Amino acid sequence: MSKLRVLIWNEFVHENIHEKVKSIYPQGIHEKIKTELISCGSDFQISTATLEEPDHGLTDAVLSETDVLIWWGHMAHNKVEDTIAKKVQSRVLQGMGFIALHSAHFSKVFKLLMGTTCDLKYREAGEKERLWVCNPGHPITEGIDDCLEIDSTEMYGEPFDIPPPDEQVFISWFEGGEVFRSGNCWRRGNGKIFYFRPGHETYPIFHNKAVIQVIYNAIKWAAPQGLWLSSLAHVPVNQAREKIEDRGD
Ligand code: ZN
Repeated sequence: MSKLRVLIWNEFVHENIHEKVKSIYPQGIHEKIKTELISCGSDFQISTATLEEPDHGLTDAVLSETDVLIWWGHMAHNKVEDTIAKKVQSRVLQGMGFIALHSAHFSKVFKLLMGTTCDLKYREAGEKERLWVCNPGHPITEGIDDCLEIDSTEMYGEPFDIPPPDEQVFISWFEGGEVFRSGNCWRRGNGKIFYFRPGHETYPIFHNKAVIQVIYNAIKWAAPQGLWLSSLAHVPVNQAREKIEDRGD
């Protein structure tokens, strides 16, 4: 069986202008995730793309050869061209998997797919987070115990303005008392979407093996399955499989 084709997209801005982020991710968040996923096994064919590339690295050719797209963005959502965001949305509807990490809740693509504001509460105080497994039988939680702990991170809190997830995989508790739906699955068209909360850039979140394990599991879960939708097509009466009696209306 051919390998799943995974594309990791990163706006790649903080790592170039913020010393702390640069020290945590000297090659960029996308390269760190790629390296860590490779260390989990050789199941995927992984490539990367960034905002500054022509078409943000998301040309028709690239998208047509991508099975699962991982998205990380934070401060440059508005620099993503609307036409490209819509193209990615269309590709998800066809069947490409889409994994939105952390602040990608505010990315154009995720908002298009959700149809809501995707607003939430946030606080940056280096507090502890526990992501509790809501559904231990779900393939995305494979290898994770009761919960996944992150010692120091940014808080995201409810209300999170998303459509009710089709499946809730993780729910987070924070040291300050808030809770948050932090691992959520949806289907849009033929595509599977997973939102996963961890990933604030000033903490070494993608150095955490359990976080990477979840992303690895999510890629496998989000892989395209079955036939893809074809385009809208009119079927003339004389081309129906069975002869239709002309009722004259
Ligand atoms: Zn953040």
